[in-house]
Amino acid sequence: MIERLRIAIQKKGRLADESFAVLRKAGLRFAIRGDGLLARVTNLPIDLLLVRDDDIPNFIAKGVADIGIVGENVFAEELNLAENLDAEIVRRLGFSRCRLCLAADPDGPVRSIGDLSKTMIATSYPGILGAYLAAQKIDATPVEMKGAVELAPRIGIAPSICDLVSSGATLEANGLEVFETIMESEAVLIRSSQPLSASKNQMFTRLLSRIDGVIRSKETKYIMLNAPKSAIAAISKILPGSDAPTIIPLAGEGDLVAMQAVCTEAVFWETLEDLKATGARSILVLPIEKMMS
Ligand code: ATP
Ligand code: ZN
Repeated sequence: MIERLRIAIQKKGRLADESFAVLRKAGLRFAIRGDGLLARVTNLPIDLLLVRDDDIPNFIAKGVADIGIVGENVFAEELNLAENLDAEIVRRLGFSRCRLCLAADPDGPVRSIGDLSKTMIATSYPGILGAYLAAQKIDATPVEMKGAVELAPRIGIAPSICDLVSSGATLEANGLEVFETIMESEAVLIRSSQPLSASKNQMFTRLLSRIDGVIRSKETKYIMLNAPKSAIAAISKILPGSDAPTIIPLAGEGDLVAMQAVCTEAVFWETLEDLKATGARSILVLPIEKMMS
């Protein structure tokens, strides 16, 4: 019997949609129904375990699931709290980016890390914050709050907070300003540090190679353009992260060639402007649907 690889992902929240999207792009077919905790992948020996994000690192460490997608912040928090967490990061996935920051009312008593000594700091991340304070030799005390951390200064729980920030709008709405970033975070793929059974490992290796393809194809573009022969060298230098471009003579256009290349790094408007300045014309940037090398 083939064992089914079990992937833990967030059921609802800021990680959920992108986690489902990555797995769907990797070719997994599944339907998410109402309150179900388990979703069966219909075309591969994989099951999805749909849970709260905070539970994911421990589920993996305890073998309830084999791999999972979670915010690096949550993984780091569990790593700091547990003596020994039997789980590790395999890939950074590039979505749900945010920062864990220290923030306070700029008109209050705490304006920089130099003012933290002997104060309380409200946070949902006492593990990461505690490790940071110890490393920086700052004598402050984390006060754990499970939610609504941004309200702590106003109701007198603590003069500063340590919380996740992406746009900063929530902080601003509460009259708070960031004065230090203690961690940058994004979604990560984690796995159990224990070896997987042979059949699960085979599925995992296959899935990982597909996920790598999904990550790479996100930034990778196919560029097509026309250019005078004299500009070929300059253009090749500008094309971001490409191997040797394909060069094709254009029928009836003596001096002009068509150039095509796969670019593995982001292609910005500035890149196109630079290409145009060398003499390139009819520049097309096309998305790449799938890749495997
Ligand atoms: P759950 O119900 O699963 O416990 P939650 O309320 O703890 O959910 P979410 O708010 O959905 O968590 O955030 C999940 C993860 O998304 C965070 O741990 C973090 O990695 C990332 N994240 C948090 N805030 C943002 C943000 N503003 N923008 C993008 N990603 C974020
Ligand atoms: Zn959570």
